[in-house]
Amino acid sequence: MTRPRILILGGSGEGFSLADKLSRDSKFEIISSLAGRTPAPKVPQGAVRRGGFGGVGGLEQFLISEKIAAVIDATHPFAEQISENAHQASKAAAVPCIHIWREPWVEVDGDNWTSVDTVEAASETIPEGAKGVFLTTGKTELGAFAGRDDVEFIARIVAPLSADEDLLPKPSKLTFIYDKGPFGLANEVALLKRYEIEWIVTKNSGGSAAYAKLEAARTLGLPVIIVRRPGRPEGLTVETVDEAVRWLQTLALHEEKNSETQIP
Ligand code: NAP
Repeated sequence: MTRPRILILGGSGEGFSLADKLSRDSKFEIISSLAGRTPAPKVPQGAVRRGGFGGVGGLEQFLISEKIAAVIDATHPFAEQISENAHQASKAAAVPCIHIWREPWVEVDGDNWTSVDTVEAASETIPEGAKGVFLTTGKTELGAFAGRDDVEFIARIVAPLSADEDLLPKPSKLTFIYDKGPFGLANEVALLKRYEIEWIVTKNSGGSAAYAKLEAARTLGLPVIIVRRPGRPEGLTVETVDEAVRWLQTLALHEEKNSETQIP
């Protein structure tokens, strides 16, 4: 007999903290799944698998073959595809699924935001010849800014680009800063001053880990170009890790017989 296996789709602070909480609960066995894009990610507690499943069908097969009892989609709110896949695959495999969906940030007094729908629109919104444009949209979005050879960018990404990633389109005037959150206000203010930042380009990710740059922008009176959030994923959603844990505890999950399977 084994404990009910819970699949956490991670790659976010919530995924990490959920794995931490559930690994201390002896009722569940957890498997975290990471997309595998970051070379040395912060590794969550418990079993971890890396890489895509191969679309909805691949994820459905994984849920069945690994006897997954429930799925918690704790991916980043801009990771739309995997959230949709989780919804479809769990429905097809009749496995309960919930999405952790944090609320977007809201503009407050003192903010100077221009909200746009896409990263491409954010690129077009940057004024001609702008200097000190702080990009925090992630390494996979650098291509959207590739045409802006008139603009000087400073991009914060988690780790240096791999040789293959380095071949992909990106802006010609680009300085990298390597760091990962959570970030604090004092450090963000210092960083914006040190790099003489004049514009901030970001996604409306919500949550606390990356909010300090917006507070820093407010403190320094800097304009922000912010990409609006994609829609809420289909299916059940909660806002926090604790709510997801409570949801899990309400499910009637049973111990599994004959489940000596290997996690790929
Ligand atoms: P995405 O566009 O929604 O997903 C693209 C494909 O990547 C999926 O179809 C799936 O491949 C694979 N994938 C994504 N997340 C996965 C996971 N946790 N485990 C296994 N496979 C996964 O995703 P994305 O926006 O590229 O984000 C990738 C990862 O980075 C996610 O884990 C997300 O939490 C994290 N992240 C994203 C952002 C962002 O701004 N998008 C920011 C911070 C962190 P298959 O179809 O082959 O299964």
